[in-house]
Amino acid sequence: MGSTGSIGTQTLEVIASAPESLRVGVLSAHSNVDLLVRQAELCTPDLVVIVDETLASDLQRRVPQGVQVEAGLDALGAAAAEADVTINGVVGFAGLGVTLATLSAGKRLGLANKESLIAAGPIVQPLRLVPGAELIPVDSEHCAIHQCLRSGSSGPGGSRLSSVVLTASGGPFRGRDAEWCASVTLEQALAHPTWSMGPKITVDSSTLMNKGLEVIEAHELFGVGYDSIEVVVHPESIVHSMATFTDGSTIAQLSQPDMRLPIGYALSWPNRHQIPFGSMDFSKPFALHFEPPDLDTFRCLSLAFAAGRAGETAPAWLSASNEVAVEAFLEGRIGWLDIAAVNDATLQDWDGSVADSVDAVLAADSTARRIAATHISQLEPR
Ligand code: NDP
Ligand code: MG
Repeated sequence: MGSTGSIGTQTLEVIASAPESLRVGVLSAHSNVDLLVRQAELCTPDLVVIVDETLASDLQRRVPQGVQVEAGLDALGAAAAEADVTINGVVGFAGLGVTLATLSAGKRLGLANKESLIAAGPIVQPLRLVPGAELIPVDSEHCAIHQCLRSGSSGPGGSRLSSVVLTASGGPFRGRDAEWCASVTLEQALAHPTWSMGPKITVDSSTLMNKGLEVIEAHELFGVGYDSIEVVVHPESIVHSMATFTDGSTIAQLSQPDMRLPIGYALSWPNRHQIPFGSMDFSKPFALHFEPPDLDTFRCLSLAFAAGRAGETAPAWLSASNEVAVEAFLEGRIGWLDIAAVNDATLQDWDGSVADSVDAVLAADSTARRIAATHISQLEPR
């Protein structure tokens, strides 16, 4: 799902690397018909879904014969329930239907779309108990933790996990202070030092909101308390995250920054994908560095800890506000520092609503979007 995006196109590369065991059943995009048609010609899926319904007839005319076409967000959810494994590479809250439908159908969900789990954690958790349902992280940090946790015992006494340590590249503004960051441009924010990704997550990486969202994601995926989640800046993006156990051991997962590794992991688990992506070369010298994050300049990270601790719909509010703020930044309507300011103001307006149903989460998302838009309209015009 989201096959035309950064995660989607890399997922198709991983599938193409193992034609004997993997086949594409469904492709989907929001509106990129040209790429969707090219992908359908290469993969001959059973079904393609376009979310923008006005483009359905154009798509229908152009896909190879025998490929079914569906349109709309509901069709996306329905299609997700069809496949054995769904990789959710949709960006933002729009991926919620795919996450819920895949788990409800008792299928494996390879989750790149962290926003759906963050916004709807309390709704997603019970669905993990549906027979056959599996939630395997695709986010590289959580894929790393999923692997590191296998070093602990799962027997009586639990895994004896002490903490999880999420690594962050630090983004393009690592080492800069807030004064310097006041004048950063969109181009600078989109120039990530180690990863090539879609625009939303690239901006999130520059503000450390991505790491903040990943803190909430780690809490939801692995059931670790917020006091047991640490963030460390690691500019080389080689150690993808770590787990520390009660005896003092820290276990790390290393590879080059290449999302095809975690995608292959989610597709192959509990086996390993047979083709190496991003493997290390220890024949040449290299160094790894670690430093604490600068919470004064990168305020979004603390906001995420606060929203996560508040629980209920607070993470949905923060994530929705952030989507609105990042979109405004991408459109040149607000500055880089305004992203954190808008998210802070919106979170302060959180109404304390509980996340006890899908409707409650949808309502929280739309209320938070409206409030974030109001805060944006109150900023000085640029
Ligand atoms: P992209 O922007 O590159 O791709 C997004 C995909 O979602 C596209 O296929 C797009 O279709 C589709 N899409 C956009 N809006 C909607 C919508 N309203 N409804 C349905 N589909 C939609 O994003 P990324 O691949 O970078 O990120 C996808 C997700 O994976 C995000 O949640 C991100 O946080 C997460 N992730 C990404 C990583 C990466 O390396 N890229 C790493 C870890 C996590 P169209 O092309 O038609 O617009
Ligand atoms: Mg990540």
